[in-house]
Amino acid sequence: MTEALSAPARDLFIAGRFVPSKSGRRFSTVNPATGEILAEVAQAGLEDLDDAVAAARAAVDGGAWREMAPRERGRILRRAAERLLARAEEFGRVETQDNGKPIFEAARIDMPACAEALEYFAGYADKVYGRTLPTGPGAFLYTLREPVGVVGAITPWNFPLLQAMWKIAPALACGNAVVLKPASLTPLTALMFAELLAEAGLPPGVFNVIPGRGEVVGRAMAEHSGIDKISFTGETETGKSILRAAAGTVKRVSMELGGKSPNIVFADADLEAAARGAFNGIFYGKGEVCAAGSRLLVEKSVHDALLEKLVDRARKMEPADPLHPKTRLGSLVSETQRDVVERYVETGKAEGARLLAGGRRRDVSGKGAFFEATIFDGVTPEMTIAREEIFGPVLAALEFSSVEEAVDLGNRVRYGLAAAVWTRDVKKALRVARELKAGTVWINTYNFYDPGLPFGGYKQSGFGRERGEEAMHEYTQVKSVWADLT
Ligand code: NAD
Repeated sequence: MTEALSAPARDLFIAGRFVPSKSGRRFSTVNPATGEILAEVAQAGLEDLDDAVAAARAAVDGGAWREMAPRERGRILRRAAERLLARAEEFGRVETQDNGKPIFEAARIDMPACAEALEYFAGYADKVYGRTLPTGPGAFLYTLREPVGVVGAITPWNFPLLQAMWKIAPALACGNAVVLKPASLTPLTALMFAELLAEAGLPPGVFNVIPGRGEVVGRAMAEHSGIDKISFTGETETGKSILRAAAGTVKRVSMELGGKSPNIVFADADLEAAARGAFNGIFYGKGEVCAAGSRLLVEKSVHDALLEKLVDRARKMEPADPLHPKTRLGSLVSETQRDVVERYVETGKAEGARLLAGGRRRDVSGKGAFFEATIFDGVTPEMTIAREEIFGPVLAALEFSSVEEAVDLGNRVRYGLAAAVWTRDVKKALRVARELKAGTVWINTYNFYDPGLPFGGYKQSGFGRERGEEAMHEYTQVKSVWADLT
């Protein structure tokens, strides 16, 4: 049992307090790096969902939250950011134990990024503007931007608290209440954060956390008449089933889904920087990153030179204890996920791709769901590993000979989450950035995010945007008012 976790933080968080599930059911959350059970967490069922929704409804339909001045909402979020930063090591440690990611990432990158999101959206709380319309003297026309009401947030396991924060921070800043269902593999930091938000002054019922099974509680959230909007991050296929379930109540939805992002390196790029970027683009976060640069597209003339640099780095990247501060390749999130990755590697080999580095499951001190940093070369666009999201540390390298071919290959998948272009030619970079069908394009870098820069998908990577002003629009609706002055 992880020592940072207070005993109540293994229960559901509903209406401002920790409560066991009505059924009394619990499930184990496991440290994938050791196989040890971290906690027995309360498993929400449909009655618990009803309770959470009732608490959230009460908060938005009347009472302290509805009455609170927007600036005060901002103050609560700012206080939460300060408290989270002060406890970044403790939260990071739990995240690392629950997910298997290196503590360096969880404590030094994810938690500060969570605090940054809270700060950023705290500033928006009193800047949710409507408009006035110029009209003749006979009328006064204006719009109000109002909260959508109760937001159901459903999140994945790869950045457990951070993915949730991109929803919680803007939703609360705009005056909504939230019911969060974190991924069953990684529910702990969301529960800890619920307690922290309450300590920062958030009124009861405004933020509720109900860990539970996706196909049961997640699905029921999408169908629930008391929830006004579903904000989902996860797999494309899960997203499709949520869209169908949400249709019955014509619910608002936003979808942050999977990716198979191209990292395009032209011959005139700074090859050293491109190798670094391509490496971090796929191996940061064990490749369990929606925007991972999992397809490396390399111009023929620099193919060998770039691959040599990458292979050299990959062979030096050893999986290690995620709690060690120097570790950069942790454990995959679960044995199941490790098996999925392993199957893709076998498929890659069977379909004729050349394995240049890695490719094997590993353990650390005889335990864990680790996997080597893996690089495939000679990949063609029809191969499975060039088309499907693997969600692990596996890079598929393809060759191209012209700008047109690079763009065509880049766009030739059903996803469109992110992409990158590496070149010293400014015009080429900007032209290719325009041609790529992706929600985010990096030029001469990879995997950088800013709370003000919107993020989201093209094509089957989803719709709606997180971060930036666009996120505020996801959590507000517009009311038009016509006042007759005649
Ligand atoms: P997942 O789709 O399996 O699960 C995500 C969440 O949905 C979990 O909380 C799960 O319990 C819930 N869920 C499962 N079935 C459900 C159903 N039928 N109805 C409602 N909820 C349901 O995804 P995952 O395996 O946790 O995460 C990995 C996926 O998430 C990858 O595809 C990755 O690309 C994607 N992702 C996307 C982004 C992005 O911003 N676009 C970010 C992170 C992860």
